[in-house]
Amino acid sequence: MQEHVLQQDLACDDLPVLRERGQREVFCGLTGIIWLHRKIQDAFFLVVGSRTCAHLIQSAAGVMIFAEPRFGTAILQDRDLAGMADCNDELDRIAGELLARRPDIRTLFLVGSCPSEVIKLDLAKAAERLTAAHAGRVRVLSYSGSGIETTFTQGEDQCLKALVEHLPEEPAAAHSLLVVGSLPDIVEDQFQRQFDAMDVGPVRFLPARQSSQMPPIAPGTPFLLAQPFLGETARALEARGARHLPAPYPFGVEGTLAWLRAAAQVFGCTEERLAQVTEAPVRRARQALARYRSTLEGQRVSFLPDSQLEIPLARFLHRECGMALGEVGVPFLDRRLLAGELPQLPRDVRLVEGQHVDEQLDRVRADRPDLTVCGLGLANPLEAEGLRTKWSIELVFSPVHGFDQAADLAELFARPLLRKERLAV
Ligand code: SF4
Repeated sequence: MQEHVLQQDLACDDLPVLRERGQREVFCGLTGIIWLHRKIQDAFFLVVGSRTCAHLIQSAAGVMIFAEPRFGTAILQDRDLAGMADCNDELDRIAGELLARRPDIRTLFLVGSCPSEVIKLDLAKAAERLTAAHAGRVRVLSYSGSGIETTFTQGEDQCLKALVEHLPEEPAAAHSLLVVGSLPDIVEDQFQRQFDAMDVGPVRFLPARQSSQMPPIAPGTPFLLAQPFLGETARALEARGARHLPAPYPFGVEGTLAWLRAAAQVFGCTEERLAQVTEAPVRRARQALARYRSTLEGQRVSFLPDSQLEIPLARFLHRECGMALGEVGVPFLDRRLLAGELPQLPRDVRLVEGQHVDEQLDRVRADRPDLTVCGLGLANPLEAEGLRTKWSIELVFSPVHGFDQAADLAELFARPLLRKERLAV
């Protein structure tokens, strides 16, 4: 097992990048509703879109039989799309009925789609109007989940950005840490315990589990990103005076340790104290990881651009699991947000930004990596050609952050390789 500490040389990001523009094969930002509606427990996500949008979130999120779900679609009809009906009146009526039926809703998100953007329906204005109409009862916010030129994790970025504007002010003297990015509750609780043991805090999370508990911020509030796809949210926080703590992302032992260290340095937690607090979880995580290293070591992995998690995951698989990197494709390369990650990649990695799906598939076929991490739509054709794949969307749904999940993260990549071995027997 490698024992290296992640370099904090943030200037060393001179990796060459191949930029591609062409046909894209990604889910749209509506997909984020699937995990966001579970996280913010008193929010409702009302997609203003077409039947296609409704089918996407219904089939991706599954149908809830025993509970009324906290997402739905206000379907734009042909008359709306042709400009023959006043969509705003219809939207007000649907929102009014929903809020009357569901007193538990405290935040209502109007989520824009390709159709609502094509007819230029102003959902920001609609949100203001509905907030005024239901004042004191619910806050109505809007964001875009449209699929035009986006990728599926940008839905969360847009949602959190919409929340930032409404976060309460905190007195500047109250020195809290903000952790940004939707994490499963169990992972959030683990991080909270680690920060408590380090005397770092108070720590608050965005998004909070309840609308009434959204974190306050002050000029200078330090924040750590838990996900690498939250560039717009980070910029909105900075516009309110909050301060980004650059760090690798908390995937694997090394990433988690470096991420916690970034907070420790701001809150006066010494390196000795950090080592003391993390000693047991690091040991446990390394032992658990060792189980999968024998499967992953020496295997070659390629990433097609999909989730924006590609670079931190490639770093983890290469440094902690011994995998060789083929191509690492990302939908968008935000060098600032990845400043703690890029220097950790091997210098010979083939880094690609953007998508030209045919050319990328040709390169995968030529490389024939042992594992290709890609979107759902590309996995089956590649499997049919005898290549092993991992759906990148699974990495967003599963608890994969932090020490206790490091082995689970490795197992997600080991599973298709083990299945291949079993089929070969
Ligand atoms: S928002 Fe656009 S890409 Fe997404 S499901 Fe609706 S029509 Fe399709």
